[in-house]
Amino acid sequence: MQHTVQFLLSAVSAAQFPAPGVPEVAFLGRSNVGKSSLLNTLVGARAAKVSSTPGRTRAINFFAIAGERRMPKMVFADLPGYGYAKISKSISATWPAFIEPYLAERGTLALCVCLVDANVPARANDRQLFEWLRGLDRTFVVAATKVDRLSGNQRTRNLAVLKRELGLEEILPVSAKTGDGIAELWRRIAKAGAGE
Ligand code: GDP
Repeated sequence: MQHTVQFLLSAVSAAQFPAPGVPEVAFLGRSNVGKSSLLNTLVGARAAKVSSTPGRTRAINFFAIAGERRMPKMVFADLPGYGYAKISKSISATWPAFIEPYLAERGTLALCVCLVDANVPARANDRQLFEWLRGLDRTFVVAATKVDRLSGNQRTRNLAVLKRELGLEEILPVSAKTGDGIAELWRRIAKAGAGE
């Protein structure tokens, strides 16, 4: 599916966020989880830069997405990857201070797409993020990335373990490489964008 994607701006403080308008979808995950690759596959264009140096982007990058028929107009917010650093009181010690207020207070934020790597064991900071989003009453969907690296059996096993350890009812398997799960993820995004 081809979408029109337009880079809006890169914000490093709350004062720089775009004026709230159409529904927003935020993309979150640890550095190197495959967030840029997934974003590029989702929009069918090179929107996000696939980094060779994990964790370098410290800004929220906003993109306007215009879809085909039935696809509502939306803004995608690409959040900085949270890190390998030890847990602090904050969700991640490596997150800039304006990220948590964005997630907590942004009125137009319709959906958080949270990414975990299907090949990597569950991490405490992922779990902590989901608990925090639940506490905020945010709608979120968790997708497990890079499932193309796993055989069918491994995939089923890893997803079941991740679900259990992260306390989730559902994880969507996705691959930026093969396109697996992308249509389903788009369905969730479109639903949220339509206010459902
Ligand atoms: P980010 O730091 O979360 O934005 O992650 P990137 O999109 O830059 O990807 C991190 C690394 O994982 C890169 O080496 C990508 O080529 C690789 N990667 C990302 N998505 C996939 C995927 O779906 N399948 C496989 N096999 N590798 C992936």
